[in-house]
Amino acid sequence: MAKIAMKNAIAELDGDEMTRVLWGVIKEKLILPFVDLKAEYFDLGLKARDDSDDRITYESAEAIKRLGVGVKCATITSNAARVEEYNLKQLTPSPNGIIRAELDGTVFRKPILAANIKGTVSCWQKPLVLGRHAYGDVYKNCEMSVDGPGRAELVFTAPDGTVTRKTIMEMKGPGVLQGMHNLDSSIESFARACFFYGLSEKIDVWFATKDTISKTYDGRFKEIFQKIYDAEFKARFEAAGIEYFYTLIDDAVARVMQSKGGFLWACKNYDGDVMSDMVASASGSLAMMTSVLVSPDGKFEYEAAHGTVQRHYYKYLKGEKTSTNPVALIFAWTGALAKRAELDGTADLADFAARLEKATLGCIEDGIMTGDLAKIASPAATEVLDSWQFIDRIADRLK
Ligand code: NAD
Repeated sequence: MAKIAMKNAIAELDGDEMTRVLWGVIKEKLILPFVDLKAEYFDLGLKARDDSDDRITYESAEAIKRLGVGVKCATITSNAARVEEYNLKQLTPSPNGIIRAELDGTVFRKPILAANIKGTVSCWQKPLVLGRHAYGDVYKNCEMSVDGPGRAELVFTAPDGTVTRKTIMEMKGPGVLQGMHNLDSSIESFARACFFYGLSEKIDVWFATKDTISKTYDGRFKEIFQKIYDAEFKARFEAAGIEYFYTLIDDAVARVMQSKGGFLWACKNYDGDVMSDMVASASGSLAMMTSVLVSPDGKFEYEAAHGTVQRHYYKYLKGEKTSTNPVALIFAWTGALAKRAELDGTADLADFAARLEKATLGCIEDGIMTGDLAKIASPAATEVLDSWQFIDRIADRLK
């Protein structure tokens, strides 16, 4: 059987622990027999990052910028215990944090739905994608507690020394204060990444704030989204038959709980922090959630939303064949290959990505799955397999 050719390469970012083990198996059984893979490989395993003082992580981010598409395995974010375990020179920063900053990107999380893996919100028939603005607001705040009455003020000093001052409150007694900020440039990048993602997936984009109460702060978010949409995306959205919808955050929450899903919900930082856990838990399993990082100029990095599945890795090291769920890792590959195909106009590669997704979901919907899904499947699983057996069964279907 002739392998499917690729016009351009993707960046491949390998990772750690159980997901690194499965990464190799997925490539060997599900990708390489079918696709003449063009990939620039970067080893983002913890030791390699430490050995290169994180240079490898920056190089991988540069490759995603240059090639436009990347696929990433889960990686360890080091802490004191990991420094000892891996005999590291230093604490290395989160690779996801580095790549996100290098790409100025926004992370979108999307659940993978199977008919027999029921989420807890029965009206969500299509994936509800959540995008979180990962800069500023309460996460970069400045707080103070005061133990008596006084005037609380907001003070801004321009570079030329001009001072603008506003009274927050004449406080009548002890209390707490908080100052926070955001930047137009960051909100603009977030808006562009959201609109690019909507276009890429051909889904509507919803955005919500509390601009009735916070007229200046949240009002700025609303204004910037509308300005970028009108100037840069409106025509393309109309051509794609999709919409941008703005509403108040409380209205958005009420509508989301009655919706069929199938759109991107763009959230401010705090809203996204809270709502992403709600959407993830309502969707069944962390192992059935993909994550894609999108830059404001439309570069895409695909990965699983879960971590390295450390507990399973220690069992694997003792010789156990674990029943770790590889579905989100497989969908990271199909996401990247489908995006490559879209950019290169290679229909056979797009078709392969779709067939691999169908073969994977086909197994699950026929009752063949890993242990984590067997706990929540309805009707019940007919075969509960280890990861290697499960991947083999997908490969059989693909052939
Ligand atoms: P984790 O996602 O690896 O595991 C959390 C829980 O979910 C565990 O109980 C695990 O058994 C279960 N789980 C997750 N994925 C699963 C799968 N595919 N199949 C079956 N069960 C699955 O998160 P963690 O344990 O908090 O972190 C482990 C390591 O992963 C840490 O070193 C952390 O830094 C790293 N991490 C990396 C990423 C990333 O690279 N995107 C994200 C989160 C955590």
